[in-house]
Amino acid sequence: MLLFTPGPTPVPQNVRNAMSDETMHHRTPEFEAIFAKTRKHLFNLFKTDEVIMLSSSGTGAMEASVINLCKNTLLSVNSGKFGERFGKIAISHGLKNVEIKNEWNTPVSVEAIVEAVKSNSDIDAIAVQISESAGGLRHPVEELSKAVKEINPNIMIIADGITAVGVEKIDVSNIDCLIAGSQKALMLPPGLSILGLSNAAIETIGEGKGYYLNLTTEIKKQRQNTTAWTAATTLIMGLLEVLETIESNGGLERLYAETACRSKAVKRALTAIGLHVYPQTPAKSMTTIDDENASEIRNLLKEEFGVNVAGGQDHLKGKIFRINQMGLIEAYEMAWVVNSVELALSRLGRRAYDGTANRVFNEAFFGVEA
Ligand SMILES: *Cc1c(COP(=O)(O)O)cnc(C)c1O
Repeated sequence: MLLFTPGPTPVPQNVRNAMSDETMHHRTPEFEAIFAKTRKHLFNLFKTDEVIMLSSSGTGAMEASVINLCKNTLLSVNSGKFGERFGKIAISHGLKNVEIKNEWNTPVSVEAIVEAVKSNSDIDAIAVQISESAGGLRHPVEELSKAVKEINPNIMIIADGITAVGVEKIDVSNIDCLIAGSQKALMLPPGLSILGLSNAAIETIGEGKGYYLNLTTEIKKQRQNTTAWTAATTLIMGLLEVLETIESNGGLERLYAETACRSKAVKRALTAIGLHVYPQTPAKSMTTIDDENASEIRNLLKEEFGVNVAGGQDHLKGKIFRINQMGLIEAYEMAWVVNSVELALSRLGRRAYDGTANRVFNEAFFGVEA
């Protein structure tokens, strides 16, 4: 079965092998050397002033960022389940939450952010997804963070890049906290999250908040190539292998270029067979299609053609399906996925099969358009 859900994503064989060694003790020079190498690669990936790894799923890093960076009021962007989660985290810690809510296909507008910041001086942090995975939506994070910093440079910008770091190059000049998670673009099993921090963020964090999620405690330890609590040793060994694999495959530039190309080619292939891309501003991490037969298409893909794609949640259950574009994906697998969608449409009597999706994907991906 081809796993094409936008998280978890497939773990490459060499990465699985790297994680199959005996468990290593985390307080040893051997592990510290692995930790140091991994950190070095992470600085190259994040381009932030500091990088911290946590043994938690992505939500742990979201919670750590909110409690350490927001002291009063969080402005959260809710165009989907993950954006909504930031607000819930803030409230659960007794912080105030101001939310800008939109339909899941609609990106937040820079104007709405500016207006919110200008009308409420209690807002000291903004939390937003770069790629909101609920609908496969790209928010204008770079533009909104630039606009906010022009108004008040002390407002902390928390950018959830769980389906963006490793997908595209992110301009972190105005971002204070950039979050990644292991099981999405980083091609690992779940359980590791990573935060990139600006120097301004570190200053704001001060003594830090929380116990396990206290970022100051972690920064101090991780600068010495160790962790405050037991490190997720196996996952970190896997992460080092992932980052080295990316390097030996032409580096980040090549990964970003291929992901962008694949993402565009899939969207073209699926629109060429009459399907509709759901988000107004699609992220490169996934292709989301809204369709009245979304459930039937998903079932046919799984049962007849060996392809597992994700559906929708909440009010989009049965209304959309989401195809992963993250990671090192073989073109022949991607071509089979779009071809399977076309086969599913013909099974449903929607469209006679003529191989359009496969042809358009290959023309766009390999640049052999007539
Ligand atoms: C998956 C995801 C999360 C949550 O991560 P968990 O690992 O499930 O805790 C947060 N934000 C985005 C954008 C995601 O895609």
